[in-house]
Amino acid sequence: MESKRNPLIIGAGPAGLTAALRLAKRGVTPRIFEASANVGGLARTPSNGDWRVDPGGHRFFTRNEEVLDLWKSLLPPDQWISVRRRSAMLVSDQYVRYPLVGRDLLTQMGFRRGMHGLGSLLCARAGRGMRPVDASASFREWGTNEFGRYWYTMFFDGYVRKTWLADPDDITSDWANQRIRPISWRVPPEHGSTDQDVFQYPVRGPGQLWEAAAAKLAHDGVVPALNSPVVKARLDGGTWTVELQSGQTVPGDAVFSSIPLRSLVGVLEPEPPKHIRAMAAALRHRSLITVAVALRKHYDIPYNWVYTPGKGLQVGRIQNYGLWSTGLSPAGWDGTYLGFEYFVGQDGELWSADDERLKSVVEQDLRALGIDSSAVERVMVVRSRFAYPISDPASERGVARIRDFLRRTYPSLHPMGRNGMHRYDNQDHAMLSAMYSVARYFGEDADPWQVNTDRRYHEAGLLRR
Ligand SMILES: Cc1cc2nc3c(=O)[nH]c(=O)nc-3n(C[C@H](O)[C@H](O)[C@H](O)COP(=O)(O)OP(=O)(O)OC[C@H]3O[C@@H](n4cnc5c(N)ncnc54)[C@H](O)[C@@H]3O)c2cc1C
Repeated sequence: MESKRNPLIIGAGPAGLTAALRLAKRGVTPRIFEASANVGGLARTPSNGDWRVDPGGHRFFTRNEEVLDLWKSLLPPDQWISVRRRSAMLVSDQYVRYPLVGRDLLTQMGFRRGMHGLGSLLCARAGRGMRPVDASASFREWGTNEFGRYWYTMFFDGYVRKTWLADPDDITSDWANQRIRPISWRVPPEHGSTDQDVFQYPVRGPGQLWEAAAAKLAHDGVVPALNSPVVKARLDGGTWTVELQSGQTVPGDAVFSSIPLRSLVGVLEPEPPKHIRAMAAALRHRSLITVAVALRKHYDIPYNWVYTPGKGLQVGRIQNYGLWSTGLSPAGWDGTYLGFEYFVGQDGELWSADDERLKSVVEQDLRALGIDSSAVERVMVVRSRFAYPISDPASERGVARIRDFLRRTYPSLHPMGRNGMHRYDNQDHAMLSAMYSVARYFGEDADPWQVNTDRRYHEAGLLRR
């Protein structure tokens, strides 16, 4: 019975590979089509010799046992390391610990600035009394109340503009409340002392896990077809046919899609009605360019995540790969290995810049950091086009209507994963939506759209309009 099934999976990222593993476990052999040359999607780890790049700094952290079990089953214990999360904001040439600590704010940048910040905070609080900021407030209003205008401007205004590419007046305070931690006025616990401060990480980056998943699948006879973009997905009667860019067509009884929802609607045949296509076309993403830079000299940066809100730097965040895992660089490397993250609009000037231009942007940022470009040993550029799905009330309504339409019209089509459902899912939620999609395929009562609907665990930056 199961041998008559021939599902098709589009995308070999965490969702696509998880769906494939689940199907294979139940005796079904899927076919997987992946547009790029790598497995792992956004969580891939491109390499050049012994150098590996984690395009986003991927923490492995989940509250779900099934996901955890799958992670553990794919890599042996000696291929996992525990990493302490140590974040800082680089402001006026100083690393200021994040979450912010009252004592640091008062002392680290000098007495006068400390008092200025404190005065500004007290003014903001006195103006509001004990009233919390109401839910309709913007990020700027929330931040000014929470940190006072001075510290808000110093730490968060530029951060939001650079990473979210949005005006702080256009972002909800609801998001800020969930994601940005308040100032700690007590002597803080050492970083790494709470659950969320320590996370798991594959020695050779997140892609190592997904490469292991692909190897396991290959053992079961499932080999993702790389460099194989799907350009059409046609439903005729109960049969699907996907068409690849090469012109090859492949039949199947169901389609699991982790490609951006807007792309999926664009490849479907019969063509969805005009209003659905318009809602899908209106879904937007932010892109990310990661420029990995190996420096010959060792710079002592005691943080793995460094936010750079200041105007003097174009970069939005810097990953200190050496504190993620020494397995990202060649054995014995004693220089400094950094990932410069540039958050860009999909059609922005930087997105279309070539590698040479990006290298010059990084060199400019290095100079601003006091590092001469002669220290650069190697540069690798990694582009992630659909890095962050953008949410606002209109897109949330649009996604719900697209979801309902697809369910009614194509019951054997399973959109899943982060961009597949246009949600700000981490790997664990992308994987869970794949697991639920497979359960649904087998007729079980499971709803992938219910994964990660708990707002407290939701990290979306919801635009207000
Ligand atoms: C900067 C950044 C930091 C992150 N940090 C974390 C973190 O700390 N922890 C964490 O757990 N998660 C993190 N994530 C999220 C994580 O990367 C995603 O949740 C996960 O990769 C989503 O998996 P997915 O399979 O749904 O989608 P994707 O990874 O996007 O995979 C989709 C795949 O579909 C392919 N595809 C697209 N179009 C086509 C087509 N037409 N035909 C065939 N294939 C196609 C793509 O090439 C891609 O490989 C981060 C993401 C970013 C961008």
